[in-house]
Amino acid sequence: MEPSALFNALTSYASTRHWQYIYPVWSRRAQGLSIGINLHPNHCCNWHCVYCQVPGLQRGPSPTIDTHRLQQELTDCLNWLTLHIHHTTLTLRDCVQDIAFAGDGEPTTSPQFAEILDMVAHLMQQRKPHDRPANLRLITNGSQLQHAHIQHALKRLHEMGGEVWFKLDAGNDGEMLAVNDTHLPLALHLQRLQTCCTLCTTWVQTAIFSRSLHGETVTTPTLPGYMEALLPLKQRISGILLYGIARPSQQDLRGCIQATSEKILEKYASTLRTQGFRVRMFV
Ligand code: SF4
Repeated sequence: MEPSALFNALTSYASTRHWQYIYPVWSRRAQGLSIGINLHPNHCCNWHCVYCQVPGLQRGPSPTIDTHRLQQELTDCLNWLTLHIHHTTLTLRDCVQDIAFAGDGEPTTSPQFAEILDMVAHLMQQRKPHDRPANLRLITNGSQLQHAHIQHALKRLHEMGGEVWFKLDAGNDGEMLAVNDTHLPLALHLQRLQTCCTLCTTWVQTAIFSRSLHGETVTTPTLPGYMEALLPLKQRISGILLYGIARPSQQDLRGCIQATSEKILEKYASTLRTQGFRVRMFV
């Protein structure tokens, strides 16, 4: 079975299992089948990004996670994959790009994040290398990187060969507010990014889109500020994942944001490459 057919079949299976924390997704950025771990089935996040695709997104606390159930769901998912890949020449590692902490809120705000990361690590260690996904990823807004327990968890992720995708959508404080709806100063966010780089392999991920501002259309993040923010970190980050808005935002009720053209994305990518950054672009 090809990975895309496997994804469709797994999605059908998942719908019969009513998993609460685990979901299969076809990921543009991971370039294939990804198994998501959602620590916020209550759709609560500490940020409120204007392009966020989570329906009914709210600000609010992290829910208590039933770790036993999460472990059972992940085991169920991986066992189903092993069984259905078994009769092909492919391995699970060939077919599944990653297990990704992502979901409907910021994973690191969950007080159980570190414990669950350890549980996933243990589960992976019990499987043969070809019978587990190729990568373990944390997709994060980076807002909890100042906490020692999160720093410790990221070291653990690093020991497991995992990586972080760290959100940076702004080139100044005003864009942090307009795009991510946070009053966090960009300088502080960049300090956290720097900390992240010292702990674990880190890619920056950036959404590029257009928004209406005082009757004009502007592309965010503005390139000079964004470049200035990232240049000091050039040797520390592994690269930049640039992506356009592919699916409608669930937060932009007034329709202020629009996808940018491929040409604009290419302009960002080529400017960054000229400065020596490694860039992957996803239209
Ligand atoms: S950090 Fe992620 S989950 Fe939270 S609002 Fe932004 S895009 Fe949505």
